[in-house]
Amino acid sequence: MQKLVIASNNPGKLREFQFLLQPLGFEVLTQAQLGIEEAEEPHFTFIENALAKARHVSRLSGLPALADDSGICVTALDGAPGVLSARYAGEPKSDQRNNEKLLQDMHGVADRRAHYYCVLVLLHHADDPQPLIAEGEWHGEIAHEERGDGGFGYDPLFWLPELGKMSAELSHDEKHAISHRGKALRVLLEKLKIM
Ligand code: IMP
Repeated sequence: MQKLVIASNNPGKLREFQFLLQPLGFEVLTQAQLGIEEAEEPHFTFIENALAKARHVSRLSGLPALADDSGICVTALDGAPGVLSARYAGEPKSDQRNNEKLLQDMHGVADRRAHYYCVLVLLHHADDPQPLIAEGEWHGEIAHEERGDGGFGYDPLFWLPELGKMSAELSHDEKHAISHRGKALRVLLEKLKIM
């Protein structure tokens, strides 16, 4: 069985990747299981951060590695929070403080358009010149107040006009069927099947 290390310590992401990749014949390991510390994410783009995370884990484990980098981009804020989504309101990371800051920044702003973005990078080895790359986007709007208790991060503020719901009001399966991460995973799985 082909080993693959997930370059993340987020338990939700790990469960999802294990569930989807094991049936394709991968033995999915986590970087925590191998005692590998989290990589720095110093870059200005999602793809650069995802590549840095995957390369770090592949280099230290000697195994293929899969990294995910994601965030929310608000049109009226020139794409912010963007790569800083997890720590938009500073350290320590807090979803609640991030949402409060986003609501403040959007006070009085009429254009509420926003989208989530996810990029997945799979490196076959640390110096792989041709990583597998898959992207997904999910478009919606920033609401005026929080609602719903599902999901995580900005989901209580992410309004889906065509569904009349916040993304925090969707079930796990409903969200996975239409989300940025779900879309990127399906693209990656297609690429893995034809490898
Ligand atoms: P990462 O783990 O460094 O990729 O950070 C991703 C951050 O983007 C999370 O901490 C959230 O703030 C935000 N984010 C990404 N995907 C989602 C989502 O599906 N729902 C809500 N927030 C998300």
